[in-house]
Amino acid sequence: MSGYAKPLPRITPDNQDFWEAVRRHELSLQRCAACGRFRYPPSPVCPDCLSDRFAWTPVSGRGTVTTWVVFHKPYFPSFADEIPYHVVQVELEEGPRLTANLVDVPNEKIRVGLPVEVVFDDVTPEVTLPRFRRARGEPGPGRAS
Ligand SMILES: [Zn+2]
Repeated sequence: MSGYAKPLPRITPDNQDFWEAVRRHELSLQRCAACGRFRYPPSPVCPDCLSDRFAWTPVSGRGTVTTWVVFHKPYFPSFADEIPYHVVQVELEEGPRLTANLVDVPNEKIRVGLPVEVVFDDVTPEVTLPRFRRARGEPGPGRAS
């Protein structure tokens, strides 16, 4: 048993390749073999052209914050100790948007357009979660300029 008490992703036939890649510390998304678009969340057909042909394709892991929320109420008891905590949406360079957390940015420093890059958090022996940190080269919030 691990001590990780928070909700874990539900692994399905559609998304298991995504989670297996994350466990290897790789971010990989479905790329449509017909129109070339990346998509997320995983789905059997392309939402743009409806093709069912695709390949799991590594992506950069770089993106920008497009929106975020800060939770002040513990909707999950396992998050009660972290109130207030944030959830961000990151738009990857390849287009798709992921919902995640930032590991190194205080709530009050989160902003739209913040450049970030993926990091991998092995929360249990079986499950790794993708999170994001400030992209290298981005000045830190507390750093003197
Ligand atoms: Zn397509």
